[in-house]
Amino acid sequence: MILDGQKARDAKADILSKKITGFSAVPTLCIIQVGTREESTLYIEQKKKFGAKVGAQVVHEQFPEDVSEKTLLDFIATKNADTNIHGIIVQMPLPKHLNPLVFCNAILPEKDIDGLGAVNTALLAEGKPMHIPATAKGVLSLLNFYGIDPKGKHAVVVGRSHLVGKPTAALLLNSGATVTVCHRGTLDLSQETKSAVILVVAAGVPRLIGKNQVSPGQTIVDVGINTVLGDHLEEEIPKRKIVGDVSFDEVLPIVENISPVPGGVGPMTVLSLFENLASAFEIQTRS
Ligand code: ADP
Repeated sequence: MILDGQKARDAKADILSKKITGFSAVPTLCIIQVGTREESTLYIEQKKKFGAKVGAQVVHEQFPEDVSEKTLLDFIATKNADTNIHGIIVQMPLPKHLNPLVFCNAILPEKDIDGLGAVNTALLAEGKPMHIPATAKGVLSLLNFYGIDPKGKHAVVVGRSHLVGKPTAALLLNSGATVTVCHRGTLDLSQETKSAVILVVAAGVPRLIGKNQVSPGQTIVDVGINTVLGDHLEEEIPKRKIVGDVSFDEVLPIVENISPVPGGVGPMTVLSLFENLASAFEIQTRS
């Protein structure tokens, strides 16, 4: 089975927009962008489009590349106090002079819909999450849509980043899976990945997982989004294309379920962010 993230997202987006229709006001997300990185601008455009689709508002605030930490912290403080703003996110990556965690922690936990601040991280680790990082939530949501329950299964996560690997592992653990987390220092990656029933790959390395790293009956969720040059030699200027961390064609005949890139976790991530915005709205407007 192909785990189709667009199909799952569309079904869940309908439910979300119906829910938002019943709200007393329009849930509003403030996205803070530093600099003009093209890829970041594209991601923000995508969030704006999806927000419009489900009835949420997105306010895009841009700052110059050399903005100071103080200017950004002051700005976040005004948005924390603004009752018309329900969610605040800082678009990553940030320029080197800014430490991302400083800003994640400056956002009010109720408005931290990326779930990357210390309070949300701790709540997830405790098994009582408020806002779960969107990619991790998207992975579980995709599995859930296709009726794959992690409970009691051996799940292997490749990657231990704060953004993806760690929250995905925590969420799988909370769902009752037995979890192994692999990383750059793992001695025998193939042995670990082959032993999984559910394999989530978030390493940011194209084709890290091929036929020698998988085994029959597995469910594979590929979180990687890598831009590589196309391999058509006849093209004068090779086209850029998006690939995951898994060699899709190679492992497809072996495994039971697999999510493609693009069209797998990507669409689920945007959906999850707006699900978080909706619950942030509910938390903040609860009387
Ligand atoms: P992301 O934001 O997608 O999680 P990062 O670059 O922040 O990406 O993190 C990459 C993670 O993948 C790290 O935890 C790293 O240890 C892991 N990783 C990278 N290369 C390998 C590899 N060859 N084998 C196993 N794990 C890897």
